[in-house]
Amino acid sequence: MTANIQIGFNIFPRWVTGSTLETFLAPLKKAGLSALEFLLDEHDPEWKAFEPLMEEGASQGYRLCFHAPFRAPYALAGFKEGDRDTIIASYRPMLSIAQSWGVRLGDLATVVLHSAHSDHLERVALFADTVSFLQWALSEFDHLRIAVENLGPSSDADVKVGDTREEVLAVVKAVDHPRVGICWDLGHDCLHHRSHLPGEEWMRRVVHVHAHDLDAAGIDHYPLIFGNCPCREWLQALARIGMHGAATLEIKGTQMKGWPPERVTAALVDSVAALKEASSWQAQ
Ligand SMILES: [Zn+2]
Repeated sequence: MTANIQIGFNIFPRWVTGSTLETFLAPLKKAGLSALEFLLDEHDPEWKAFEPLMEEGASQGYRLCFHAPFRAPYALAGFKEGDRDTIIASYRPMLSIAQSWGVRLGDLATVVLHSAHSDHLERVALFADTVSFLQWALSEFDHLRIAVENLGPSSDADVKVGDTREEVLAVVKAVDHPRVGICWDLGHDCLHHRSHLPGEEWMRRVVHVHAHDLDAAGIDHYPLIFGNCPCREWLQALARIGMHGAATLEIKGTQMKGWPPERVTAALVDSVAALKEASSWQAQ
């Protein structure tokens, strides 16, 4: 199967402050950018600016991808045991936005999902919450493809479902639905010091990628400037196996605070170009 991988960028309204989306993205587009990933979170202080930016991005021909809410007050914990209605009420308006784009564009809209986490519930209960939530979301929204993400290490008492590759795969297999797959966050694997290529079972289920680099101190979500994460090699392996989906350069702007704008642009352009090249692997 020939791969079909679009290179994306996780756009936030503040990236385009003082500019326009078109102007800001022009050099990235030239380097191969063709998708944009949007966080769905109506509690984000800039929320009002997100939907207009989606409209603008779509009108400029970018494929739209989404990230389900994951910061408090959003939480999947307790979905199976009692809090189902409250959790549905908080997620439904956000997932509906992605669904409506899927319907409008006549395609499945990919939504990245973090599994349940909690500082007081058992892992087995959180796993069940995640599976039940996915079953609800897939039956309620017929134009969503949900990509379950492997997460970074926990920094506090939280138990996070999906912090190992095995558990992400187990969630996806437990749901066993044609519209559920894996979002492979390459940087998160590097934070866990996992440097080996996953097995074929994992690779074939990847429908979305998050690519970013980490510095010597282990701070992630940088452009690909340090070479501390084998993003190119891993994306090339996905291309070789015939992946269909987007690979998003997932950057935190705060990581480049104080950089001159030219340096920021150059780092983003080089990263997009590297991902584009890796994703374009062709059988000889
Ligand atoms: Zn990610």
